[in-house]
Amino acid sequence: MRALYWDGHDLSFNSVYPAPVSTIASATSALQTTALVKVHLAGICSTDLQILKGYMGFLGVPGHEFVGSVDEGPEELIGKRVVGEINFGCGECESCRRDLSRHCPNRRVMGILDADGAFADYVSVPLANLHVVPDHITDEEAVFTEPLAAAFEMLTQVQFNPGDDVLVLGDGKLGNLCAQVLRLTGAKVTAMGKHADKLALLKQAGLRTLELSDWRPRLFDVVVEATGAAAGLELALSAVRPRGTLILKSTLAGNHQVSLAPIVINEINVIGSRCGLFGAALDALEAKQISVTPLIEKIYPLSNGVDALDHAAKRGAKKILLRPS
Ligand SMILES: [Zn+2]
Ligand SMILES: [Zn+2]
Repeated sequence: MRALYWDGHDLSFNSVYPAPVSTIASATSALQTTALVKVHLAGICSTDLQILKGYMGFLGVPGHEFVGSVDEGPEELIGKRVVGEINFGCGECESCRRDLSRHCPNRRVMGILDADGAFADYVSVPLANLHVVPDHITDEEAVFTEPLAAAFEMLTQVQFNPGDDVLVLGDGKLGNLCAQVLRLTGAKVTAMGKHADKLALLKQAGLRTLELSDWRPRLFDVVVEATGAAAGLELALSAVRPRGTLILKSTLAGNHQVSLAPIVINEINVIGSRCGLFGAALDALEAKQISVTPLIEKIYPLSNGVDALDHAAKRGAKKILLRPS
């Protein structure tokens, strides 16, 4: 099959990469049993760009945001459109038994850790991770399920109440999805960022927006840091009211200096937030509660995937997708 391959130094397009096989016959559980999914669309996210800088020491086919259809697998799934949760748990440890396979210490992660990903014609996914996509969600919408689920994760961690004053810092893809999800709770959400065009997208989606240059210090019940930059952290911390909550959504690689004193003095709850379950995200897409397609900047054929990743790395780029077929 065709795939983009990262060898630790270069990303290249390989037209004869060995295709994965489904393991229906030999496996004993849904975790070991994998389906072979033909990729329709795959999304490039900032984690992929970090992988190309050495993040996680990953080697192989990157890509963890995808929608496709089952090519090989159980009879009832053949031809069905699916998306897949990206953490492949061991199924046996404490975390997996508590339905937290995304924290399994022995997990593999699609396109990130010990498992080939979706920048390819086909990707292999454990049956336990698959979700069938309802008919009236388009491929262009469904490919956002994974990052949208990460935004919904916040709602499982923090109680939001109607009228809560919430600030989302960052107008990129992650900040956009977080702001839209939080608005569903009835909270008063302000999205702040640096880019007029991206703030305009948020405004179109019905959010109140603020340009960073117009920022006047004030305090919020909850502040979400989704800028992807260390500088956002300091501003975020300064905007949380005493006993309020700071949610960290950006995975900032590397070490950063930040004074912890304000957290203690103001008794701030700091919550780290990463991957979420897909159910809530699919429900919201089906109900057309979240607008995702305006975030798409360009769709590249897989064969131009190297250019696509270059494009995605440009400052201010919106979502870049790959279409294998
Ligand atoms: Zn991602
Ligand atoms: Zn486990």
